[in-house]
Amino acid sequence: MSVRVRFAPSPTGFLHIGSLRTALYNYLFAKHHGGTCILRIEDTDRTRFVEGAIEEQISSLAWAGVTFDEGPHVGGNHGPYTQSERFDMYREYGMKLVVNGTAYYAFDTAEELDAMRVRQQAAGIAPKYDRSAMRNQYTLGEQETQRLLSENAPHVIRLKVPLHQDVRFSDEIRGEVIVNGREIDDQILLKSDGFPTYHLANVVDDHFMEITHVIRAEEWLPSTPKHIILYQAFGWEPPTFAHVPLLLNPDRSKMSKRHGDVMVRDFAKKGFFPEALVNFVALCGWNPGSDNEFYSMQELIDTFTLDRVNKAGAVFDYQKLNWMNGEYLKRRDVHDLARELHPVLVERGYTYIDPAYVAEVIELVRERVAFLGDIAEFADYLFGDTLEPLTETGAASLSGNDTLTTALDTFRQGLDAASLADADAFKGLAQRAAESAGIKMGAFMKPLRLVLTHREVGADLFRTVQLLGHTRCLARLNAYLSR
Ligand code: GLU
Repeated sequence: MSVRVRFAPSPTGFLHIGSLRTALYNYLFAKHHGGTCILRIEDTDRTRFVEGAIEEQISSLAWAGVTFDEGPHVGGNHGPYTQSERFDMYREYGMKLVVNGTAYYAFDTAEELDAMRVRQQAAGIAPKYDRSAMRNQYTLGEQETQRLLSENAPHVIRLKVPLHQDVRFSDEIRGEVIVNGREIDDQILLKSDGFPTYHLANVVDDHFMEITHVIRAEEWLPSTPKHIILYQAFGWEPPTFAHVPLLLNPDRSKMSKRHGDVMVRDFAKKGFFPEALVNFVALCGWNPGSDNEFYSMQELIDTFTLDRVNKAGAVFDYQKLNWMNGEYLKRRDVHDLARELHPVLVERGYTYIDPAYVAEVIELVRERVAFLGDIAEFADYLFGDTLEPLTETGAASLSGNDTLTTALDTFRQGLDAASLADADAFKGLAQRAAESAGIKMGAFMKPLRLVLTHREVGADLFRTVQLLGHTRCLARLNAYLSR
């Protein structure tokens, strides 16, 4: 049997980083087994529908390299892939359970249900539908039930949970799970407006879409016993389940906005490489079983197995993600990077943006930043003609220093093509200039950098000067010396 998995988001917002990981694990598992990865939109809750969320989620996933073989946007033989287009089917299958006695009609009003909960709270018992005390098919009897139905009395369909039976299933990550029927609520399957709940729609779809493995977030684990009962009620074979651990903040609380970005598009906007984010997220909760921390998508596909997904929640370490992005910045093809940086340089109105030149700048400074976009700011003195104004301390360190002026002047006079040709010639020139003014070479490099770049720190000065070229260096020295 070939593997079929699905990622089943609800269009209630933009793609969360935790959802990216769930989708990614589904994708990796499917591709590892030569299987099929399906996108299904779970939009049964129309009140929480967010306009544009589906499109945003699909494009965020595509940005990260997670694509689907079947889905509302690509088609397939098991559609429609959007639940709101399958409502008739849920109703039909919900009613089948009423007919075979595994689900039943209930007529309770909201007030009656509230009163039930208050009674239960007062008695110190967990809130749960009290089948024997409420107004439903069993307490009212067949005749009264039929009468109410013929009058169109508002009603729901509830799952008849077998009360004294253990429900068991084996989770690929969490192992054997056993829950007693007494602890499971008689879940509503069809609401009074005839719409299905998540549980019914989810099970019907997983069955008819021939899903073999349900890989989803741990928060759905408590729902799974209900789903197992539903599979039994329909007489269907349940899929294999795997519940992946939560992503946590550094303080081990559930990952939330308060601690940083949580939406995939925020990470994209910040300038993370999709490859770095995917690599990092894959390792949040999955242990590849080796010391290697760097995985391309293909390597993840080759290596990923569910038995190496941890049970415990995974802390999302923003610092480590930054570091990893920096590592990708160091490793990625410099010409690709130059192409990606181009629009940023154009937007900032820089003059020196020839791709080959930009590639050399990136090569020079990429060790010193974590984000490609930071290079524009970090090395602005290499991309533009004009310099940012000197900082106050920078200006103060240069002013009223005659020996320094002498050294810079000597340097200016010696500056020519030959002095830019190799590091030794440059060093020789700088040394002569420093000596002529009686200052140490070490003490000369910092002001020289300041004058040429208006920065106190930066990449290797010789390479910087080489990239600036004779004309720009001279112009900057002149600007300083003519003050
Ligand atoms: N619609 C659910 C969600 O938003 C899907 C849960 C599942 O995969 O069964 O996460």
